[in-house]
This record gives sequence, C-alpha cells and structure tokens, in this order.
Amino acid sequence: MSTRIKSRSDCPFCEDNVKLSIFAESTNFRAIYNIAPILPGHSLIVPKDHVRRMNELSDEEISEMIIFSRKIANKLTEIFQCSGFNWTIQDGKSAGQTVSHLHLHLIPRHSNDLKNPGDWYPMLKGSELGIIDSKSRDRLKKEEMKMIVDKLRFEFKSVVKK
Ligand SMILES: [Zn+2]
Repeated sequence: MSTRIKSRSDCPFCEDNVKLSIFAESTNFRAIYNIAPILPGHSLIVPKDHVRRMNELSDEEISEMIIFSRKIANKLTEIFQCSGFNWTIQDGKSAGQTVSHLHLHLIPRHSNDLKNPGDWYPMLKGSELGIIDSKSRDRLKKEEMKMIVDKLRFEFKSVVKK
C-alpha cells in the first residue's frame, strides 16, 4: 500500500473535471458516467485515490468495490431497463489498460442491442481513447453529459454513501 498515490494531475479520473460526472460514491470509490459511452448507461467504478492496479487494493477495498458496483448495477438496471451487464477491468497494459487509473466498466445490455453480444469489446478501445482525448468525436457534449448525470444523481439519492 506504500506506493499509493492520492492523485495525478494528468489523469482523467483524478482531474477536477471528473466531478461533473460523479453520480454516486462509497467510502473509497466513485461511480462516474463514462464521457464516451459504448451503450446508454455505460458507467465506471473508480477508486478515489489514483490506484493503478487491482493488486494495490486491500481485500476490504476489493469487496467494497464489488459490493458498491453491484448496487450501482442494480439501480442502473431499473433506470435503463436492461437485462444484462458487461463487467470488465483491463488490469495492466498488456491486458489493454489505457488509462493508468483502475476502472471497472459497467455496461448495461439489452437483447439485440449490438449485432453480436461480444461486439462491445472492440468498441472499448475507442471509448477509452475518448476518455483521454478531449477532442474525440465520440465524446458526449457537456450539456448532454450534465443532463444524464443530473438524472442519475437524482435516481441514486437513495443509494446511500457507504
Ligand atoms: Zn488517477
């Protein structure tokens, strides 16, 4: 735990702007709306500290992360009326991690939302680049983002901190 960094100014999940997309939080984690969603409701669970890899989390934090994520997924199911989720973490560069701040993707799914159920995976890279590159065309517009996040914040009011 000694190498834990609080925040990095060049990290899209640490920079101040991330506050605009936070819609729920637990003690050590935040739920944020993805600025470059693959499908409607595509959210990210990120540690509040600049944690890079799964190995940097304690056992307690891992369980907090998964329990919090499930709460978020359950509520997203109601809001987006979805019937499934892709839960995914790219843990390490060799696994396709592009943003060096650990993040769990929660992607709500509906039957036939993509041509093949597995088509989300190749789309993930574009989404991650959208998070990093503010000029990316695939990014949501500021007003669009605010509308969605305001709605989610309202819906998640009942999902209490902790
Ligand atoms: Zn960070």
